Amino acid sequence: MKCAICKNGVTKSGKITVVLEKQQTTLIFKGVPAEVCENCGEEYISSEVNGQLLKRSNDALERNVSLELLQYAA
Ligand SMILES: [Zn+2]
Repeated sequence: MKCAICKNGVTKSGKITVVLEKQQTTLIFKGVPAEVCENCGEEYISSEVNGQLLKRSNDALERNVSLELLQYAA
């Protein structure tokens, strides 16, 4: 798809690393599927993937971890 930020590049699917910080917890998700703009590098995550990330980050918050490295698996 065409990039909504720079309006020049096109996105291609790839895997990215997402860092989420909430309260005292930092979560690093690796291998997250996303569309990445080849021109400006803007990352687009689908709402489905985003929902998964939020769900798993809530689990980690309940466990009170301070830092966790997670592999995203669909
Ligand atoms: Zn772009």
